[in-house]
Amino acid sequence: MDVDDPCLPLLQKLLLAYKVEWFEDRWDEYTDDEFEAAPLIVAGVTWEIFVLGGPRFGTDYDISTACPACGAGIRQTSAYVLDGTSQDSMPKLGQFRAVGSYSEILVDERLAETLENAKLSGLSFRSVYARQKDVRQIKLPWRQMWASHTLPPMSPRSTGIERKRVCKSCGRSKFNQSTEEPLRLAYHARDLVGAQDVNRMWEHFGFFRWTGDLKTAVIGQPYFLITPKVWRIFKEAGVTGFKWLPIRVVEEE
Ligand SMILES: [Zn+2]
Repeated sequence: MDVDDPCLPLLQKLLLAYKVEWFEDRWDEYTDDEFEAAPLIVAGVTWEIFVLGGPRFGTDYDISTACPACGAGIRQTSAYVLDGTSQDSMPKLGQFRAVGSYSEILVDERLAETLENAKLSGLSFRSVYARQKDVRQIKLPWRQMWASHTLPPMSPRSTGIERKRVCKSCGRSKFNQSTEEPLRLAYHARDLVGAQDVNRMWEHFGFFRWTGDLKTAVIGQPYFLITPKVWRIFKEAGVTGFKWLPIRVVEEE
């Protein structure tokens, strides 16, 4: 619904009157031309394509580089392992060409091949397995996207970000999207020097659970930031379920 729609305040009043709980999310709509003109685009994963995977299901990580307080900065050292017993996640592998798992992006083999042939900079792939009920891991015809380059922190002029829960130790994790205003991520021009076709943000958004034990850890990894060239490949492949967000460039203060 458009934010200027005269029906919006009326709808909010009705929801309040009937004591209906609702979730409000504000989002800017962008045209294809705006995506094409962006230096980089955030590849946000929606719940529609979310699959369960990560440390709790047998993916291995080096935790020596992790923030002791929140776990941000842990480095994946094995193939990505999904919960093969999840009734909710597994069917999605048949439905979609790309799925997401705590901001990791998994693509089917054919799409991986297309991406590989496009000779994109900064991109490599890792294998994907599914852990069965008996803990056996079965290799899937899927690949995990891997970015070699991490961008410097975003500009403080980025807006639509809830910073209340940001980790006090490292300042790197538990960023959340504000419900009050749309997310707009900005970078200094100098921080985009050296960006590849496929990169990751420095900040971690989303849900975190960290006690130092991988068996219970939930870590939202940093978002992928891709060039319009990669976005176009996803679009042409009929990929759905992503929330794309072009970044903005701000001048030095
Ligand atoms: Zn931390």
